[in-house]
Amino acid sequence: MLPQIAKKEVRRMDKCPKCGNDLRLESGGVVVEGGDAFLLQRQYCANPQCENYAGKKISEASNVVDEIRHKLT
Ligand SMILES: [Zn+2]
Repeated sequence: MLPQIAKKEVRRMDKCPKCGNDLRLESGGVVVEGGDAFLLQRQYCANPQCENYAGKKISEASNVVDEIRHKLT
């Protein structure tokens, strides 16, 4: 029998799926959706050779590799 893989478990991505470089984390502020508040964190690739590269100014970057939401209680 194959081991069960917990698909529901949210895995935090911290490597770029394209180049394997470490991702940079940038705060995206707080968003409110459906009465719940979430702290937003965006992950960018910092490798200039990568097609996911976010550029030098992370705050103006359009290439978001991943977005993490932390529910604020
Ligand atoms: Zn990359």
